Amino acid sequence: MRALQLTDVGHLELVERPLPEAASGEVLVDVLACGLCGTDRHIVRGEYPSRMPLVLGHEFGGRVRWSAPGSSWAPGDLVSVDPNISCGGCADCRAGRVALCPDRHALGVDIDGGLGEVVVVPETQLYAIADVDPLHLAFVEPLACCLRGLDLAELSGGESVAVVGGGVMGQLTVQLATRAGASRITLVTRQAAKRELAERLGATDSCTPGEADGLSRTFDVVFECAGATETVTQSMSLARRGGSVILLGIPPEGQTIPVSPFTLVVDELRVQGSFLNPVTQARAADLVGSGVLDLDPLISRVLTLSDVEQALSTAPSGGDIKYVVRPAEME
Ligand code: NAP
Repeated sequence: MRALQLTDVGHLELVERPLPEAASGEVLVDVLACGLCGTDRHIVRGEYPSRMPLVLGHEFGGRVRWSAPGSSWAPGDLVSVDPNISCGGCADCRAGRVALCPDRHALGVDIDGGLGEVVVVPETQLYAIADVDPLHLAFVEPLACCLRGLDLAELSGGESVAVVGGGVMGQLTVQLATRAGASRITLVTRQAAKRELAERLGATDSCTPGEADGLSRTFDVVFECAGATETVTQSMSLARRGGSVILLGIPPEGQTIPVSPFTLVVDELRVQGSFLNPVTQARAADLVGSGVLDLDPLISRVLTLSDVEQALSTAPSGGDIKYVVRPAEME
């Protein structure tokens, strides 16, 4: 089988290697699609801790190739994969806060992930999914992270919502907020193509970060989906008094922003981090499987394994949203 292996910081190698072997409680999955994400870029540059050598890729799904006798999974089953593996036994896991497990590790970050033709996956990480376009399997994991943000926002319908950042997280959040009954959804992002796309996908309006300066204290809920300190600061200014700011974007570790504790208190602002996909993966698989989300416009390029090194070493082209890799496809 072929796999794209990170052998050292900045060094990706397309290797031919024997099929991996699955141990008890694991299955082999033929990877049909794997999304590339900003975290993959950070790992390649050595800016995000990972094991090496490593097969990257944490947004993937495929078909079960092999399962042990007695397994609840059978060859041919279409599955999405939750890459985040928690211990299940620590105080956080037992309290349902699995994303905070100190022993959490992930396929594509600490153990081999989806940028190979075949991957070993613990059975606990598999979710059945309806017969969808295989490329859509790459959206289940990021969608599960957005669903977590939606859960924390507690939308009940009729709210005014701002989404800051027009990448895949922002575009998925726009679609989720639409379905949650928000009365106004404003996407704030720099690139015009991303604003236009969001308006096609359900945003009622959109604007640039500069234009959004005029919308201070306007929105019931603000989803920060860009991950820069300036966008976090702007998100906090957009929420109305008594409103909520849900932080999904992940700014570089160590960066800080000035915050007025006075304003937080007297405006009763709720600022809530939302990390990963605890218990939302099954719903995300069902949602992708249902076909109600508009995912095709989010796919900017479909790549083979041979294209990935170049795609990860250069900035995405303007307006591009998501690159999806088909590992079994030959260039
Ligand atoms: P992305 O494709 O890079 O999208 C981020 C968007 O933010 C960009 O398209 C950019 O669009 C916009 N943006 C606005 N102002 C910006 C600024 N000052 N600097 C940089 N970008 C700016 O990323 P993504 O995949 O959608 O992910 C968004 C964030 O969520 C990232 O930080 C990612 O690490 C994080 N994330 C978090 C979770 C979680 O569980 N919390 C899960 C997945 C990803 P314009 O150029 O149009 O402005």
